Amino acid sequence: MPHHHVDSYTRNYGSDAYTVERYELELKIKLSSNLLEGTAVLSIRALEPLATVALNLTGLRIAKALCQGRRLATRRRGPQQLIRLATKLAPGERTELVIRYTGNPRTHDGIWGEIGWEELTDGVLVAGQPTGASTWFPCNDHPRHKSTYRFEITTDAGYTAVCNGRFIEQRRAASRHTWIYEQSEPMASYLATVQIGLYQQLPLDSTGRLLAYAPPAAAQRVRGAFSRQPEMAELFERCFGPYPFEQYKVVVADDELEIPLEAQGLSIFGVNHLSMDWEAQRLIAHEFSHQWFGNSLTLDSWKHIWLHEGFACFAEWLYSEASGDLDLATRAAQAWELLDAQAKDIIVADPGAPDMFDDRVYKRGALALYVLCRTLGRDPFFAMLRSWTETNRHAHVDTDRFLAHAQDHAPDGVNVHALLDPWLFAKPLPLLPAG
Ligand SMILES: [Zn+2]
Repeated sequence: MPHHHVDSYTRNYGSDAYTVERYELELKIKLSSNLLEGTAVLSIRALEPLATVALNLTGLRIAKALCQGRRLATRRRGPQQLIRLATKLAPGERTELVIRYTGNPRTHDGIWGEIGWEELTDGVLVAGQPTGASTWFPCNDHPRHKSTYRFEITTDAGYTAVCNGRFIEQRRAASRHTWIYEQSEPMASYLATVQIGLYQQLPLDSTGRLLAYAPPAAAQRVRGAFSRQPEMAELFERCFGPYPFEQYKVVVADDELEIPLEAQGLSIFGVNHLSMDWEAQRLIAHEFSHQWFGNSLTLDSWKHIWLHEGFACFAEWLYSEASGDLDLATRAAQAWELLDAQAKDIIVADPGAPDMFDDRVYKRGALALYVLCRTLGRDPFFAMLRSWTETNRHAHVDTDRFLAHAQDHAPDGVNVHALLDPWLFAKPLPLLPAG
């Protein structure tokens, strides 16, 4: 079978031969033994003539794959499960796969550290970026594909399961509780998540749109650390346009986490991030801004990661200024100094898989936006950003399209390529415009 990679950054993940329109995941999770029993119903649409469906599933075993009641043959190839359809699909044709699977899910370890399903001291966390989704459900694991989701999570009584999307209902049996969520806005697989812990729900504002889930003992500190979340929401809506989802949920795990994590409509922090210090507040702003840049507007291939991370870093600086801390120009100058002291061997718009989450991509990406903001002027710059998020809401983006969009909003005589190419496509660090 001919085999081409959807994305050279994440080889063997994702397929362009078909798309999954909807995932319905019914998971039974036993925390003491970290045992997962899952049924995944995938609504598939062929994009090419499709005889074999290549799904990603790692560390778990398929017990049975069914299509219209017929059992299908499956075979493993690296991180892929190849499922042979009984009848070949023509492009545009749909079918439904039912996959029963089981095992002890765990992170997979690679150049980006440990990603995927992770056992906490008392619960579960999922860190999906970039290829961690396959550690807990069979999926077409590339962000170029977005799908709707239903999650039905059954786990030990007393624990709270938090997933993306709207909470539908909770069912209680003697020792097991079931939590149901519906994610109706399209979502990339790496942003799908389940978080399980001894969590209490805390409102972060009066509208019910901002919610925290945290260990009861941390409630006071959570209220403190996230006290500016409503203010942040106002600022970001003013700068980036309407918040793209129904709710924003913050999960605070009862563990220390090296870095917070983003998921769609949801961010995950550790107890070590509960502080009013800049270092914690900037991460709270950073993760929140990913709801626009990353989750609603999602990269078309991983090399465009600066369209998520550069924008999120720029959002930190905006929040710094708006909250009375250092202004945009000072944050930019500090970032430039930091970059100047480091190796200048990275291409921001195509950093390569190992450096995709390198801090230089974040900082230099943010500086490119800062330079654009100075050149366009603040009001036209934010108008450009708001139309960027509106035009590409719940869709996909790449660097060329962003540059073309910015050019459309630039005053006569400004050449956006000439302005930003040195920041995005060359290694030497350009000088920062003075003042
Ligand atoms: Zn980020």
